[in-house]
Amino acid sequence: MIKKKKRNEGVRDGTLDDLVRKYIRLISDGYCRRCGEHVGVEWIEVAHMYRRSRKTVRWDLRNVYPLCKDNPSTGRKGCHGIVDNDQLELTSFMYEVMTPKEISELQEVATMTLKEYPIDREKIKAELKEKTKELECVEDIR
Ligand SMILES: [Zn+2]
Repeated sequence: MIKKKKRNEGVRDGTLDDLVRKYIRLISDGYCRRCGEHVGVEWIEVAHMYRRSRKTVRWDLRNVYPLCKDNPSTGRKGCHGIVDNDQLELTSFMYEVMTPKEISELQEVATMTLKEYPIDREKIKAELKEKTKELECVEDIR
């Protein structure tokens, strides 16, 4: 098996990735969706159920969850690395957060090409900005 050190991602859209990260961190409120621990937003990463290279679902909010990352200073293993490196852990997490129907719908989109399932980046961007803005307003009221 060939292990690629660096993934060659065809898609480069820092803005969309940034927007998804910001949104995911906001909804997490610093809590990891898998272990439930409060680690603080700076320790929350965007975990993709279907890999980022699956362009059709890279910015699909059904495909991303806030998970904690490794903490080298304490040696604590983060959930992001655990689900990314263990197919069984990933699958069981997916069944925890989604219904079988939702999983199969997501899988269908994830296995399509952009030609079969064109995504509108500007629309996704606008939606993410809108959702983030709403969340930030809630934060302000608190
Ligand atoms: Zn965790």
